[in-house]
Parts: sequence; C-alpha cells; structure tokens
Amino acid sequence: MFNIAIDGPAGAGKSTLSRMLADKLGFVYADTGALYRAVGLFAVRHGISPQDAAGVQKLLPSIQLELALSPEGQRVLLCGEDVSLAIRVPEISKAASQVSAIPAVRAFLLDLQKDMASERDIVMDGRDIGTVVLPHAQLKIFLTATPEDRARRRHAELMEKGVDIAYEQVLDEVRQRDAQDTERPIAPLRAADDAIIVDTTGYELEDSLKRLYAIAKEHRV
Ligand code: C5P
Repeated sequence: MFNIAIDGPAGAGKSTLSRMLADKLGFVYADTGALYRAVGLFAVRHGISPQDAAGVQKLLPSIQLELALSPEGQRVLLCGEDVSLAIRVPEISKAASQVSAIPAVRAFLLDLQKDMASERDIVMDGRDIGTVVLPHAQLKIFLTATPEDRARRRHAELMEKGVDIAYEQVLDEVRQRDAQDTERPIAPLRAADDAIIVDTTGYELEDSLKRLYAIAKEHRV
C-alpha cells in the first residue's frame, strides 16, 4: 500500500489539495480532522464541555465512528448518522481542537486511522499523520502558508458561503487555533523530520497541486 501523509496548519489548502492529489493519483482520501470534529460534536450534543477531559473520556465507549471512503469523497458517520455537514460549523471547529488535546481521544482515534491506511493506497491529511499515525508513510508532506495568507483564503471561503465576518476576526481565530495545535503537549503540530515542506503562500491551488503531484511522481507513486 502506498501511504501519503499530509500535515499542516488549518487553512493552508490541505484538505482541498489532499483530495485533488488523491483524485489525480487514483487514491482514496481521508480527512482525519473530521474524526476529531465528530468527537467534538458528540460531546457538545451530550452537554459535555470539549475541554472536560474526564467527561469526554467517559463518552468515548458510546461513540461509533466511521469514515465511509469512496472515490466520490468521504462521509462521516457518527453512530450511523451522516454528520458530514454538521461538523463544519465554527463551534465544532473549536470543539474539535479542544478534544484533540485530550490523550484518550487521540488514542481512541489512532487505530481507526491506522486501519484505514493499511488497506488501501491513501492520501491522509491531519496534524500528526507523518509523526504519529503513519510514521512509515512512503511520502510525507508538511503543507504550510503564512497566517495572513491562510486567513485570507478562509475569509474568502466564508464570504462566499454568505457568512459575514471581518478578516481580522478570521486571522485571530487562525492564530488561536495554531497556538492551540502547536503548543499542546500531546501530538503537537510539527513537521516530521523526513517531511517535505511545501509553502503555498501566494500560490494558486492548481499550481500547488502541480507541485504536489510532481513530488509524488519523484517518489515513484
Ligand atoms: O483539519 P480540521 O480543521 O478539520 O481539524 C479540526 C481539529 O482537529 C484541528 O484544529 C486539530 O486540533 C485537530 N486534529 C488533530 N489531529 C489530526 C487532525 C485534526 O489534532 N490528525
């Protein structure tokens, strides 16, 4: 099986580019952030604060989680319910980031992620895929961009969806999430030693995709 691990901060184009790269290579694509989001959603729905480590840990045995992977894309099933859309709201972005700092949550999701990659050629994106989940991935990419560039893209995306929000607020949220993700003691966001760093600042999506595809080809995918 050929495993490609793509890590990096929010808003560098990671999920869009990972999905496009997977399509181009004929691989399936797995967005692991969706798993943390589903756990965050479950906690919120059960009235448990996503920061309450003991409370969230107690919920884990009742969580049944599946990423239904197919060439058409991925659906997230939480106890049989398709929550693919429900996990995309800002409240759940924050909850996901908070539950992801709980060691029991990371342990709970680890095997699920490893199993997905052992069965197929896959592009898996997240924060710790190259460092923790798939340390033996044949290709590891760390995709990044400046906070301003990432906030600009995120802001444009939100405005397109009709969400009226100031750029400064988006930039502020990007910085907060970066801090939360890089400063946590467990599985902090960082590039694996053998990862190739790709900075997408100022690049159009198509050009970034070309760069990633070229890197994949150099690695004999
Ligand atoms: O990528 P996405 O924004 O959907 O991820 C939501 C949150 O889940 C991130 O803020 C991050 O804290 C967490 N996450 C993680 N490890 C992963 C994927 C996501 O900690 N492999």
